[in-house]
Amino acid sequence: MAKQAFKAESKRLLDMMINSIYSNREIFLRELISNASDAIDKMYYKALTDDSLTFDQKDYYIKIDADKDSRTLKVMDTGIGMTEEELENNLGVIAKSGSLAFKNENEIKDGHDIIGQFGVGFYSAFMVADKVTVITKAFGSDQAYKWESTGADGYTIEPSEKETVGTEIILTIKENTEDESYDEYLEEYRLRSIIKKYSDFIRYPIKMEVTES
Ligand code: ADP
Ligand code: MG
Repeated sequence: MAKQAFKAESKRLLDMMINSIYSNREIFLRELISNASDAIDKMYYKALTDDSLTFDQKDYYIKIDADKDSRTLKVMDTGIGMTEEELENNLGVIAKSGSLAFKNENEIKDGHDIIGQFGVGFYSAFMVADKVTVITKAFGSDQAYKWESTGADGYTIEPSEKETVGTEIILTIKENTEDESYDEYLEEYRLRSIIKKYSDFIRYPIKMEVTES
């Protein structure tokens, strides 16, 4: 698939998010874990309303893998996954109900705790990653898809391989610069402390694996 253009407003929002308004980068992990948890919730509700399905607690979890060699941080879930259309609709439109729109609608002048109260969402991953890859297989589908983006210039979607239903978000963590360090987002103790701080209430197990280089 050829690279698709983001809509103008979305592009502005993404630029802003990446470059300025979020000084608190570590919250990207809270956003990805909350999406993973939402996706598992959707499976749970499906099982409640569909007699042919059972929800076996042990099959539902979130897994974080950091690999220092490839500089990748993966957030995997065994949730409901996304179809090609859902990938397009959910990840092709930035911050549909995001904090900026909320702020404008409500004429809130200072941004006091807006960010803390409202999820900034999936795109916050670009605060720490220069490439984001999503591999996902929707419940009830045989075909997996891969969404990939290096930021505001757009994204691609193509068929992919994935055995099980669910979603894998792969962040290629930015290289350190003179002023900024990103290595910490591949460190086990750092990841654990971010999870403890923001995602302690998540109802599903969060497993972790860190591969040292
Ligand atoms: P929000 O969670 O507030 O809807 P996000 O930007 O965090 O906004 O996510 C956008 C949408 O992308 C979600 O509503 C969901 O439909 C989809 N999505 C994101 N992550 C996942 C995931 N891990 N599994 C399934 N769907 C996801
Ligand atoms: Mg979200």
